[in-house]
Amino acid sequence: MSTRRKFIKHSVLGGITLNSFEILNKSAQLFEPQHRKGLPVVIATWGPNTKATAAAWDILAKGGRALDAVEAGARVPEADPKDTSVGYGGFPDRDGHVTLDACIMDEFGMAGSVSFLQNIMHPISVARKVMELTPHVMLSGEGAYRFAREQGFPHENLLTEEARQAWENWKLKSEYKPVINVERHDTIGIVAVDQLSRIAGACTTSGAAFKMHGRVGDSPIIGAGMFVDNEVGGAACTGLGEMVLRTLGTFLVVEEMRRGASPQKATEIAVKRILSKYPKQCEEAQVGFIAIDKKGRHGAFAIHQGFNFAMYQNNENKVYEAGFIIPQKKN
Ligand code: ASP
Repeated sequence: MSTRRKFIKHSVLGGITLNSFEILNKSAQLFEPQHRKGLPVVIATWGPNTKATAAAWDILAKGGRALDAVEAGARVPEADPKDTSVGYGGFPDRDGHVTLDACIMDEFGMAGSVSFLQNIMHPISVARKVMELTPHVMLSGEGAYRFAREQGFPHENLLTEEARQAWENWKLKSEYKPVINVERHDTIGIVAVDQLSRIAGACTTSGAAFKMHGRVGDSPIIGAGMFVDNEVGGAACTGLGEMVLRTLGTFLVVEEMRRGASPQKATEIAVKRILSKYPKQCEEAQVGFIAIDKKGRHGAFAIHQGFNFAMYQNNENKVYEAGFIIPQKKN
């Protein structure tokens, strides 16, 4: 049986029409971007993160290091109380605690990460300190908090009144149901290639809203929420972390680029891997990947239509729509 027919057989995606299968099979051509050239470049999940790509660009345009650029970019939504998926203002877990996950990776393949961190506004900068100042890759929970405080990060209340209200409303039904594309400001994953072709990436989030206390998603896991390899390129993602954790999505994207796939094709392969393994879950849940390679070519692909990304390249900071498998339902 051909791979295509096998896929159709395994798929129980209610929303998918024949048309969508055509999209599925043609998607590589359909969405392959007309590549513009030029380094530096920075790409970030979600359109509203043009503010983050702008902060990163300030550093890249002056010849700065990709690592500094992605950290500066990630700090923008972390400090934004209106962004309900990252840092300050992030929606809490089901017990009312804002718990944060973040990771960062540099051009030498070094990595730092924090998970289940509370009361620290900039987990991405703590992750960088873990990478640079400790022999470890990841610190979690109370240990990550103590390390952050030792490094001079202030203790802050990250639960805004708006997020507290949203939690109170959620408690009325206490139903955990991830909603596709509704929270447009989502986890930020950000990858940059600087003028010297150095590649770095960062990812930071408050995780799935109203998750179980102690739940850690894909975002702080190197190779799941974000991965870079300076010889090849980098990738980051957003969406239902459990599906990315089970497939090590961004590692897969970078490995596919290493094997010769374009960034667009590589992101599509990672989405299709998730879809082929968890077709039922994909009906309801979104995952979107972004990628860039060492030449500054980009790609982005998601399960559902509606995922977009911000990219700053050739002095232009713009929002683009990602490729997708499942079209948005028309009302
Ligand atoms: N990937 C994040 C997580 O599962 C959440 C998101 O991107 O919406 O924690």
